[in-house]
Amino acid sequence: MSIYTPVIKGSVLLSVRSYVTWKVAKVRIVREKAHLKVIQTGDPIDVLWFRLSKLSNDPPQFVANIDSGKMLVMINRSDYWQCAFIVVKDGFENVKKRGMEEFRQSITQLVPFTKERVREFKNWEQVKLLSVSIDHLKKWYRPGVLCIGDAAHAMSPMGGVGINLAIQDAVAAANILVPAFERGIPTVEDLEKVQKRREFPTKVTQKFQTFLQDRVIIPYLRSQKPPRVPLPLKLFNFTILNSLQGVSPGME
Ligand SMILES: Cc1cc2nc3c(=O)[nH]c(=O)nc-3n(C[C@H](O)[C@H](O)[C@H](O)COP(=O)(O)OP(=O)(O)OC[C@H]3O[C@@H](n4cnc5c(N)ncnc54)[C@H](O)[C@@H]3O)c2cc1C
Repeated sequence: MSIYTPVIKGSVLLSVRSYVTWKVAKVRIVREKAHLKVIQTGDPIDVLWFRLSKLSNDPPQFVANIDSGKMLVMINRSDYWQCAFIVVKDGFENVKKRGMEEFRQSITQLVPFTKERVREFKNWEQVKLLSVSIDHLKKWYRPGVLCIGDAAHAMSPMGGVGINLAIQDAVAAANILVPAFERGIPTVEDLEKVQKRREFPTKVTQKFQTFLQDRVIIPYLRSQKPPRVPLPLKLFNFTILNSLQGVSPGME
């Protein structure tokens, strides 16, 4: 069957701010309109995303800590800290109910050097809610539509690999579809080839993310006890995941 094939894909160079609700809604609309079945993997979490100022004697790199059901990751962005406070799905409402002062204390408890800086929070407008889920489409395509990147398989921040996968999908799609366009118009079989080529690395990566999220992060978030083994800083930068990306199966 001959078809016209627009690729649902925006810039992959966006910041995670693209995860505010309107963006998630747009992906959902595309999937719904195209009648593409979504398979939800893992227990979703939410991220409270905010900035704290940075001082010259702060640690140089990356800070992360988990304790008593709370988890905070701070990413060094040169002149400020981009902070991610991880909560169970829909946990933001509970955080708000408990009040700003308790939120400030939670941050300081996890990363004591923020003690004075948490006063920078004046209202909840300064905290953005980012929705995180791990899911994938059963079929990434239908006549006239091909989903790649998060449209085909929404990734969690775990391991910092979602952007890699999206770029690799784009490369694979280009390698398959450009020759198809040169021959004429891509067929459904051409679209299927893109999914076949990219499905394996996507599924393996999502299995790692789901395992970490469901077996490590969420149990800690639900428990009020301190973790027995401190969560390694490298949790968000898994060598295994990154080397898997380096191999890039299915990208060629
Ligand atoms: C909180 C959080 C933190 C994350 N941190 C990391 C990280 O540190 N490293 C990492 O590798 N991955 C991270 N990820 C995952 C990563 O963000 C995604 O896997 C990746 O951005 C997917 O890229 P994409 O191009 O498919 O989608 P996106 O980056 O979302 O790009 C899609 C683009 O299409 C645009 N768009 C949508 N609909 C339309 C339309 N109708 N018309 C025009 N444009 C449209 C959107 O506005 C957006 O710009 C994180 C995810 C979350 C939720």
